[in-house]
Amino acid sequence: MGPVEPVKIDLREVARVPGARATHEFAESLPEDEQFQATGPVRGSLAVSNAGGVLLLTGDFRGRVRVPCARCLEPAEVDVSGALQEEFRSLTPGVEKPADTIDAQEPAEAAYSEGLLDLTELLRQQVALGLPIQPLCTADCRGLCPNCGKNLNREQCSCAAEALESPVGWRAELAKLAQKQRGAA
Ligand SMILES: [Zn+2]
Ligand SMILES: [Zn+2]
Repeated sequence: MGPVEPVKIDLREVARVPGARATHEFAESLPEDEQFQATGPVRGSLAVSNAGGVLLLTGDFRGRVRVPCARCLEPAEVDVSGALQEEFRSLTPGVEKPADTIDAQEPAEAAYSEGLLDLTELLRQQVALGLPIQPLCTADCRGLCPNCGKNLNREQCSCAAEALESPVGWRAELAKLAQKQRGAA
């Protein structure tokens, strides 16, 4: 994927007039992120209204992204979707300051400045927040062998068999097991 220009939505008009409202449909290509790679545009809609001192943004988004499988590290494709809900306290273009957001955990203020909403940045944040914790390439992914690192979806390794056959392997397995039990206790 080539470089993606951030898409900015001009909210200066809405910001000037209390009670004003604007809506926007989008189909956004997101740049490759550390955490995910979008397989196509992220689509959705948003509405921004001027609630007299605060800009309220609501909307939704949906898309499909590629992330590393939690078990085998091969690419896994997952659907992401969610609601958009942000609040920007900035009504005077030119003298705006980053605003508090409804959810202080979300650094959404980075996406809004001087009456311009950086939709690309907002969606990047929201998609990252909506990623599954344990994405899997397939529900029954067999993962990597912890011993030799082979992808067990593609090939069989003989680590388990060897461990059982050799006395050294046995002892190593028992030591591992004991360690695990100590860790669990
Ligand atoms: Zn996998
Ligand atoms: Zn192995």
